[in-house]
Amino acid sequence: MSRRPALLLDRDGTVIRDAHYLRDPALVSLLPGAVEGLARFQAAGWPLVIVTNQSGIARGLISEAEYDAVRRELERQLSAAGITLAATYHCPHHPGITGPCGCRKPGTLLYTQARDRLGLDLAASVFVGDRWRDIAAARAFGGRAILVPSADTPQDERARAAREELVAADLSAMADLVLGAAGAGAASGR
Ligand SMILES: [Mg+2]
Ligand SMILES: [Zn+2]
Repeated sequence: MSRRPALLLDRDGTVIRDAHYLRDPALVSLLPGAVEGLARFQAAGWPLVIVTNQSGIARGLISEAEYDAVRRELERQLSAAGITLAATYHCPHHPGITGPCGCRKPGTLLYTQARDRLGLDLAASVFVGDRWRDIAAARAFGGRAILVPSADTPQDERARAAREELVAADLSAMADLVLGAAGAGAASGR
């Protein structure tokens, strides 16, 4: 089987507004540029995979059922925009509460699970998020790392990504970096 590159996305602060320990589907709000960026990768045949740390579950702030309702609402909003996620993976742990785990980012367990289940080529994949820990796994697998800063991105992580990796303003600009500027090389839509 030939393996495919994937777009491996953080969720909160990357695809949707970070509502902090989000448990209410009514607060799921796609960020500007998200639909445009994801649509371009989907059109290029890349599987879209979300990998998200949800320590609110370990903290008792979010139930698995609430997490799942939020996941379904995000999928509904994306579907309304013509976008289908290949899979969503979440880590429900927090090291201080549930002990160490391999799945909390920057851990790599969820990426290897996605790789094995979806047949992904992680070395050809792109790791995207608003925190360094979202993109750190790119180094473990040889993929590309792109920081898409949010209000919650610490300045030192922004500076490190700018120095060592790539930074994009939003997912649409991120798509431009990976796939080329929108419309470049194609017939003008005007
Ligand atoms: Mg985030
Ligand atoms: Zn975990």
